[in-house]
Amino acid sequence: MKRDYYEVLGVSRDAAEQEIKRAFRGLARELHPDVNQHDPEAEEKFKEAAEAYEVLTDAERRSLYDRYGHEGLQSSGFSSAFQGFGSFADIFDAFFGGDPLFGGGMRGGAAHGGDIAVSVEVTLEEAASGAAVDVDFDGVDVCEHCRGNGAEPGTPIETCPRCDGAGQLRAVTRTAFGQLVRATVCDRCGGDGRVAQTPCGECGGRGRKAARRRLEVDIPAGIADEQRIRLTGHGHAGERGGPPGDLYVLVNVRPDDRFVRDGNDLVTVVDLPAPAAALGTSVTVPTLDGEEEIRVEAGTQPGTVITLRGRGMPSLRRGSRGDQRVVVNVVVPRKLSADQREMLEGFAATLSEENLHAPADDGSIFARVRRAFR
Ligand SMILES: [Zn+2]
Ligand SMILES: [Zn+2]
Repeated sequence: MKRDYYEVLGVSRDAAEQEIKRAFRGLARELHPDVNQHDPEAEEKFKEAAEAYEVLTDAERRSLYDRYGHEGLQSSGFSSAFQGFGSFADIFDAFFGGDPLFGGGMRGGAAHGGDIAVSVEVTLEEAASGAAVDVDFDGVDVCEHCRGNGAEPGTPIETCPRCDGAGQLRAVTRTAFGQLVRATVCDRCGGDGRVAQTPCGECGGRGRKAARRRLEVDIPAGIADEQRIRLTGHGHAGERGGPPGDLYVLVNVRPDDRFVRDGNDLVTVVDLPAPAAALGTSVTVPTLDGEEEIRVEAGTQPGTVITLRGRGMPSLRRGSRGDQRVVVNVVVPRKLSADQREMLEGFAATLSEENLHAPADDGSIFARVRRAFR
């Protein structure tokens, strides 16, 4: 679902262009990649805001959008200029490259490594007890052969002939602001200003290499489905001496046939034939600690909840455990044999109001309604 462009930028439908620009710059400041490198959502939000800006500051596109919405733009062949861009930082540079308000965009020095996201699946038992899980993923490492400088060991590194050692090239780019002259990182030396005469044979001179990695990740007891664990410094290696990114592990907790999880509580249901509920009995229920026999008192009503204290999931923060709630589902027999019918008719004839009252129940309409909706 695409959000409304005005809503994305937080402006009214009749906002003037200046106001739209101001709103976009405000959002951009909040979503700056240097501030949000640990938040993959920031990139999506920035792209969304950039697209809204791109449409609402173009009179023709804006009126098309006002009249026909997203579909109108689509059928006119509009597609955002930012879909093709590489990284978050690149998109940001396209807008604000060289803008002192946003710290320039004169990159090319040390760069932070990218973050990596992986997902793992654990069982409910593992989520309850905590587990050590091996995760495999591809990560960019510093090349061991050249120690990251990109030159075959023992060969010289010289001044980049393309940028004369500046690390930057001047380029004219078309952006949402119109023509913009901006400095881009030199594509020959990657901003270093220096290049290897003989590129490293192992990494082709990039100084970095993708490699398969395996890491043992501790899943804390009590983790919920779709929670993320962040492992600082386990992402891609940085460039030119920059720090590595982080690894995000998304944990999926496999659904369990026996339990429904409700926060730290677990819910189970036992089916009990109506006569057993009237007579009282004991039933076996699954718990995280194994099967457990619980007592069902005589006269137990449908929907009665029996709470097993401290038998639920552990709390991530407090270490204490939630409860297990056992819901007693009293089942009225759906079919009767002739003999059973006769016996039940005989029994029904003996029933009086006395048999149905709860102990504190006076048999009034209020008590009966309360009983029914308990
Ligand atoms: Zn190398
Ligand atoms: Zn260069």
